[in-house]
Amino acid sequence: MGIVDNIKLIREEIPQNVKLIAVSKTKPVEDILEVYNSGHKVFGENKPQELRDKETVMPKDIEWHFIGHLQTNKVKYIAPFVSLIHGVDSLKVLSEINKQAIRNERVIDCLIQIDIAHEETKFGLFEDQARELLNSDVFFSMKNVRICGVMGIGSITDDLNKTRREFKELKTTFHKLKEEFFLKEDSFSEVSMGMSSDYSLAIEEGSTMVRIGSSIFGERDYLK
Ligand SMILES: *Cc1c(COP(=O)(O)O)cnc(C)c1O
Repeated sequence: MGIVDNIKLIREEIPQNVKLIAVSKTKPVEDILEVYNSGHKVFGENKPQELRDKETVMPKDIEWHFIGHLQTNKVKYIAPFVSLIHGVDSLKVLSEINKQAIRNERVIDCLIQIDIAHEETKFGLFEDQARELLNSDVFFSMKNVRICGVMGIGSITDDLNKTRREFKELKTTFHKLKEEFFLKEDSFSEVSMGMSSDYSLAIEEGSTMVRIGSSIFGERDYLK
């Protein structure tokens, strides 16, 4: 089966109101174009320069999502065009996103990454740290970023109950933050969770956006 068949099957499988982000990191523009020409226009990347380079050569009506860990000094590469930054995990990076958004005369939508897996290799804030960020004067003064929800990455494990618990935790955190900070803001509505190995579970637990790479494009080759 080709990549277009793969994405069609996944699109049919997931509910209409769940947004599908086709994660094209490490994959060539030819593959992305094939998916694009089949009618899908939402893609995710996790390296700022790679994303910038692909954006330059690809059709302009693509919605590009940045899904990985973002370093402060690299925000500038994606600020002119990115439609959603999934992995905001510090006030420092959010300040830089705000600064680059001002420079580009736009508002940049962001999700706060919550640490649900509690593994050392994963990024993200604990719920209290997210609360602290949202309560800060520095955040209050930012006019060019809009927080649209939360994002989380489940543990790499065969224990589906563990993953389910993590997704439940993220959904609960979303509801609490909504209640405390965004009750009047309809735009705070997204829970980005679920990848190739666990998206069905994530949808059962209330995901609004799934980020799927290898089940669409095939396994990634990091050695090239
Ligand atoms: C790579 C990546 C994905 C997609 O992973 P697959 O297992 O290939 O579906 C999703 N989210 C993030 C943050 C990623 O880095």
